[in-house]
Amino acid sequence: MTAFRLTCPTCPETYRIEDGRFSCPRRGEAGDHLLRRVGLEGNAAARAIARGWERAGAGSFLRLQALFSARELAGEDGYRRIHDRLEEALAAREGTVFRVTPLLPQPALAAALGRSGPLWVKDETGNVGGSHKGRHLFATLLYLEALAARGDAPGKPELAIYSCGNAALAAAAVARAGGYRLRAFVPADVDPRIASLLEERGALVERIARAQTGEGDPCYLAFREALRRPGVLPFACAGNDNWSNIEGGSALGWEIVLALRGHAAAVDHVVLQVGGAAFARAVAQAFEEAFSLGFLPRLPKIHACQPEGGFPFVRGWALALAAYAARGGGSAGIPCDRLAPPAEALGRLAAFLRAEGPSLSPLVDRFAADFAGPAARAVLAEIARRPGAFFWPWDGAAPQSLAHGILDDLPYDGTGLLPAVLRTGGRAVILPEARIRSAWETARAATGIPVCPTGAAGLAGLMELEAQGLLNPAESVLVVFTGRDRSADPPPKGPATP
Ligand SMILES: [Zn+2]
Repeated sequence: MTAFRLTCPTCPETYRIEDGRFSCPRRGEAGDHLLRRVGLEGNAAARAIARGWERAGAGSFLRLQALFSARELAGEDGYRRIHDRLEEALAAREGTVFRVTPLLPQPALAAALGRSGPLWVKDETGNVGGSHKGRHLFATLLYLEALAARGDAPGKPELAIYSCGNAALAAAAVARAGGYRLRAFVPADVDPRIASLLEERGALVERIARAQTGEGDPCYLAFREALRRPGVLPFACAGNDNWSNIEGGSALGWEIVLALRGHAAAVDHVVLQVGGAAFARAVAQAFEEAFSLGFLPRLPKIHACQPEGGFPFVRGWALALAAYAARGGGSAGIPCDRLAPPAEALGRLAAFLRAEGPSLSPLVDRFAADFAGPAARAVLAEIARRPGAFFWPWDGAAPQSLAHGILDDLPYDGTGLLPAVLRTGGRAVILPEARIRSAWETARAATGIPVCPTGAAGLAGLMELEAQGLLNPAESVLVVFTGRDRSADPPPKGPATP
């Protein structure tokens, strides 16, 4: 029996990582069934993390091996063998492997924003596949291979993913390194460069058209359908279908924590872009684990941001605040009428948050201060009991944004992320399109990093928080540039060969 195990917020059972389960067997029934991997605790775990990190020069998945279930399952030598074999295949086929990515203060960017406090940027644009997504999936690949090494996995399953770009591309690179076949469900209007890169990597690309909103992402629904076939496993960057990818994403957060320690620096705020919320949930989890293991003196405020073209996580956050206010006998004045036509209700909520954001500060602070108290606990229990009352598929106009990589219909990991935002007194803000464009242009001009608009959306969140007076420009802040801009890449060379 390993120290790591899986817990469900609704089911009383604890699941073993040895069993190769990717989601709660009772998902689909009432309540929140998002699995959490727990067990990274105690002095031995803290020492293992610190010791691994000292191996400067080694890859991220070796330095941070103490985080991964694959390491728990295979032991140190077994993990090393699996890791090295996969890394070699990645190097041969992609010409790159998972290294610890750069984390640097960006004084010119801070100055361009008129900030006096430090602004740290974690740069994922040079990572495998051009984004942070590969990290999530490499942890899943290691887990699959660790299961296979125990004889617990029957042959090589087909892997499936739904994505509009970076995640599918990272999945194709990682799956190919492991010798797995990948089926990628992508929107019909997928960037031809992405489709071509997927096909080059042997992925089966299925293009799915969107007819309407409110029913959920059609690519996701097609992916779910594929999972019903025997021998198909979820290779998605979302914790509801595949908890193990969150371990890979949490390594990004741990790299930040450990590198900041190396600089003897701390951050007051972390601003994270949210689509499906796996990235933000994973980074928040790393900060929470690092805090409980004694790597951090205090938690930074964890903020989330989404485009005005699709903000179902911000809506869920606002509803949680409203539920908390209702229990305290007060009213936050947050408009949340589920009987109104969706587009109208969303417009009212966006207008309220834009105009009245600062007036919510006492409520946000009270929730954070009272996080262990009965009223806050009752709200969290209500979210676990009725997650669909807080998060449901986007039912506004067809989602659109320059930051199109974070337009998920549903924050699949919303219930995993939300407690971290509430606990730390963070905010969830809506990004006007002009802010997204301005953040992207400023980011590129001031840092020279070839970041894409989605990748710079966390910076847009910082700018929005400061514009609304919700964040003091003298405090220290961290954002993650999650993905590389491919728009300057050469176009695909004619029809791809399978
Ligand atoms: Zn469950």
